[in-house]
Amino acid sequence: MTAKPSAGVAASPSSANNDRGFGRFFLPGPTEVRPSILQEMLRPMIGHRGKGMEDLIARIEPDLQYVFRTKRPVYIASSSATGLMEGAIRNGVRARVLCLVNGAFSERFFQIARACGVEAEALTVPLGQVHTPEMLEAGLKGGKFDAITVVHSETSTGALNPIAELTRVAHATGDVAVLVDSVSGMAGAPVETDAWELDFVLTGSQKAFAIPAGLAFAAARDNVIERAKAKTDRGIYFDLIEYDKSIQKNQTPNTPALSLFYALAAQLTDIRRETIEARWQRHAAMAKRTWDWVDEVSDAGIPISVLASKGNRSPTVTCISLPQTHSGSAVTSAMKARGFVISTGYGSLKDTGLRIGHMGDHTLDELNEALDNLREVLAA
Ligand SMILES: *Cc1c(COP(=O)(O)O)cnc(C)c1O
Repeated sequence: MTAKPSAGVAASPSSANNDRGFGRFFLPGPTEVRPSILQEMLRPMIGHRGKGMEDLIARIEPDLQYVFRTKRPVYIASSSATGLMEGAIRNGVRARVLCLVNGAFSERFFQIARACGVEAEALTVPLGQVHTPEMLEAGLKGGKFDAITVVHSETSTGALNPIAELTRVAHATGDVAVLVDSVSGMAGAPVETDAWELDFVLTGSQKAFAIPAGLAFAAARDNVIERAKAKTDRGIYFDLIEYDKSIQKNQTPNTPALSLFYALAAQLTDIRRETIEARWQRHAAMAKRTWDWVDEVSDAGIPISVLASKGNRSPTVTCISLPQTHSGSAVTSAMKARGFVISTGYGSLKDTGLRIGHMGDHTLDELNEALDNLREVLAA
């Protein structure tokens, strides 16, 4: 079949787009992908060292820079986001890294650091909480660490770490590289890669970007590239030097997951059309609606609450704490029977919590329908 270009898709991503059947899948990753984007993946194969591929990357690159708010190249890895978490450690840490841990994904970053042979220490705060600039300042005292890892939007708890402030603190203490996982932040929560001077920021395709899993993106400042050059054990698959060389030629170091690149190109065109600011606002509105809804349900006598405290909440994912009368898996099953997919809590929070991914291409109307159903399920 002939794949159609995605021109003519209206600003509101899902409604005006005839993407029927869309709007009932609210996992915090993978997120729902619009049929018109899935359709892009049916395009025929092309040689990955030919002009067609270079043209495709040349088209994608400025749009990724637009989303990242950076003038630097944005590397595209054909891997899940964890790959570039490993890349962050292998390329960006000289000897000792302080890992800010406040949930399952930030714990993963810590474990990756340990597995990659650098010295790693965790600075842990309770689930649902974030790291304050003061905590980081105290943690970095003594000048022992040359890098930190931090998760922007901790998808297991719905907490949003203040990465701009944390980066400022880290840089004020000296030559400390800030390695940021914004896997469920980027393209949903504001990220200013250049203005905030993030040394390395990575994300994945299957969260707020709303394309299928399998691609990861990252931008690096010169200091991280310099660190990488000085390391001999940075591995092959996530060698940033190779990524940096390749992207200058609109190429990738290895065979790119071409079908996903097609989906990415189309989705970035739509994100541009919506504008990144409007996308941030749409996410903020969906998050606020979810938090207000939790208060309403709680006021009506079902004692649920948002795990993350006010002011520290992610605009893309909310973790809801349930009373003992309700189990996460029972609630998600009841929602499934109504045609809605939401998530239980993550890890240790599995049965005491629910997670709603209000990210990607969802709209407030779709979210409201899901929340109306969830209210009935909780009241039943
Ligand atoms: C989903 C997620 C990851 C892991 O991404 P994969 O694509 O599964 O490797 C890492 N960090 C955060 C914050 C995430 O939400």
